[in-house]
Amino acid sequence: MKITTLDTGFGGERTTAAYLVESADGLVLCDTGAGPKAPDRILVGLDARDIVGIVLTHIHLDHAGCAGELMRRCPNATLYVHPRGARHMVDPSKLIAGAREVWGALRFDALYGEILPVEASRVREVAFGAGAGAFGLDFYDAPGHAKHHLVAHDSESRSVIAGDAFGLAYSEFEFSFPTTSPVQFDPAAMTSTYEMIASLKPSQVFVGHFGAVLDVAERSESLIDLVLRIVAMAVNHHADADCEQAIAESLKDLVRELNSAAVERYKVDCEINAQGIVHWLNSQAG
Ligand SMILES: [Zn+2]
Repeated sequence: MKITTLDTGFGGERTTAAYLVESADGLVLCDTGAGPKAPDRILVGLDARDIVGIVLTHIHLDHAGCAGELMRRCPNATLYVHPRGARHMVDPSKLIAGAREVWGALRFDALYGEILPVEASRVREVAFGAGAGAFGLDFYDAPGHAKHHLVAHDSESRSVIAGDAFGLAYSEFEFSFPTTSPVQFDPAAMTSTYEMIASLKPSQVFVGHFGAVLDVAERSESLIDLVLRIVAMAVNHHADADCEQAIAESLKDLVRELNSAAVERYKVDCEINAQGIVHWLNSQAG
């Protein structure tokens, strides 16, 4: 299948992707971006009636924020979501409350705009495993970044659409970095998911932020190494007076080590990732 990277514009240019999959059953969108401008950017040059499916890698709003609006504009589409995420697309109030906590209410409204619900009759919970999916795509459970995360595999083109389950990889740099944003970061599940994706032996992994990663085996190994280093670093900082700030700075140091020119690009991610790591540390401490 042909898979095309679409720039939703969310968070800046070439920052948050959606993907257009040309399946034998019709056009399928994978992820939606967020914010008032994303739907127009995604649908430019397309007839919305040709979209038969919208698949969400996970329901964090930078990936799923425009699902309601796009489902409204695409009358023939069915929404495919992880079983743990489906009910939150029908009633997004919890998602909105969670994202407001991460971003702050004012910043949230400016960034995300209005989040519309999706009619329950148009939402399908995906089935996992080879041959069980939809539109020729196989879906696999992919926890670690979020418990409601899936990846989509096209065995024909040997492609995986991975959302945030295969790290951040802004395309102007040649490295990947784990994304540990709140509130379900699970290091062990995250490394297992990296291994699972690599075991599919894809020739390309399309990540949400941003574009295609081609050296999949090497990236998987470096991502696993980075998760182990991040966990060790975080545990060392847990007793610090401002542990979130200290972890954010250490994450920036890690990015600097990978490419000193990338720190500014990953700055916001490091800060959000630090929040998720502190949440995880606190949950471990019970
Ligand atoms: Zn994301």
